[in-house]
Amino acid sequence: MEYTSTRDASRRVSAALAIAQGLSDEGGLFVPVSFPRVELAPLLGLDYPALAAVVLSQYLTDYDPAFLRAAADAVYGSAFGGRAGRLAPVSEGVYSLELWHGPTCAFKDYALQLMPRLLVEAKQLLHRTETTLVLVATSGDTGKAALAGYQDLEGVRVAVFYPTGGTSEIQRLQMATQEGNNLAVFAVRGNFDDAQTGVKRAFTDPRLAADLAARGVRLSSANSINFGRLAPQIVYYFCAYAQLAKQGAVQPGQPVDFCVPTGNFGDILAGWYARQMGLPVGRLVCASNQNKVLTDFFATGRYDARREFYKTESPSMDILVSSNLERLLWHLSGSDAAVRGWMEQLAGTGAYTVSEEVKAKLQADFAAGCATDAEAAAELRRRYEQDGYLCDTHTAVAFKAAREQRGKAPMVVLSTASPFKFPRAVLTALGKEAPADDFAAMQALQQLTGAEAPAALAGLKQKPVRFTQVIEPGEISGVTLAQG
Ligand SMILES: *Cc1c(COP(=O)(O)O)cnc(C)c1O
Repeated sequence: MEYTSTRDASRRVSAALAIAQGLSDEGGLFVPVSFPRVELAPLLGLDYPALAAVVLSQYLTDYDPAFLRAAADAVYGSAFGGRAGRLAPVSEGVYSLELWHGPTCAFKDYALQLMPRLLVEAKQLLHRTETTLVLVATSGDTGKAALAGYQDLEGVRVAVFYPTGGTSEIQRLQMATQEGNNLAVFAVRGNFDDAQTGVKRAFTDPRLAADLAARGVRLSSANSINFGRLAPQIVYYFCAYAQLAKQGAVQPGQPVDFCVPTGNFGDILAGWYARQMGLPVGRLVCASNQNKVLTDFFATGRYDARREFYKTESPSMDILVSSNLERLLWHLSGSDAAVRGWMEQLAGTGAYTVSEEVKAKLQADFAAGCATDAEAAAELRRRYEQDGYLCDTHTAVAFKAAREQRGKAPMVVLSTASPFKFPRAVLTALGKEAPADDFAAMQALQQLTGAEAPAALAGLKQKPVRFTQVIEPGEISGVTLAQG
């Protein structure tokens, strides 16, 4: 499989290079030039690691299949406690794909536990010996998942940038207490878009690249702009479908709908990739919180990021510039020139409008919905009181959109984080007084629901804080150089 750039069709790179480099030199994202088609039947009986190996080998064709199989076994067995791809029934025909049984309790572990292995192997395939400096802009969960994945990995350093006050206290502590000798964490004044823009600027800064190269260091990305993040996320759509087929909830070949709580558009794009590969995905519902740029975009074809930014109770979705949408626009328009034009308009004016043709394709493939904090809280409480199902604030946004878009097909809601990552917001949604302290709230939530807080979260209370530095967005390049 070859990869090209969304902004320059003349580029052709291997999967290894796409993963090692992260972003194309001119700022475009790497995309597969075509989609592998897979036959569904042989996949339905596979366990998670085997399924992962099959899907990954379709895209990462320059990697040895035996390597991919071993990596999938190592990652999706133990680190997920045997609960990789767990599908929980919620109500008649509605399911929750619980993607938070990994080490950092958010779905990002699926990609970021595997990515370090893919990166190290990519460097070997490319005969590269330099140090890789992985830059991460995070609205909360990516940062921790990347830190956990790359901790003490030889030849790799990681710098994480998160917005001040833009994460839950538990998310902040997860990052600030991270152990490992190859890691640094910075709070950036501003919101996620400020952090993400600063990191993107560092990537395309030729001066910084030259200064780092002189020290034998090369930048890479662990954000979902890296194709290595996308490929592992395709797997759980197949896994969910396989489980429903096995239970007889769907006849093989019949569609299943998916609803995805969305921020940077990576998770839901993986579902669209699964559909392009032949998985019978029905409606693909894009769920947004009050930062509903995408809901408006799917309705009108106009992407307009010039709007108020809301800090919500689903902080990992507080995003106005959804990077991975660029990939979808490339696939739907088939034109690097069109994508380049839209992205230039976005950078210059904060908005762009796609053609009627692309808009029609968007609307054919996606539905969209959104929820304010109050609506998501009401939904969270409804799911708990009516179905006895406890979810986090991000998943609650998706449950609301799923309810509104429900058709005849089974509906799978992607549950992206453990409710114990956001214990105060979850308690409040359930109509309880939330203690000011997150750990007291965690205990109260345990007592109320009988669910057990993951040890990795409860144990944060005892861990010393290692990272306290706060910087301005303009300082990101500078501190990046200092890591090199
Ligand atoms: C990252 C994240 C999302 C959004 O996923 P995208 O791939 O950025 O759309 C949703 N929920 C949680 C809990 C997350 O961590």
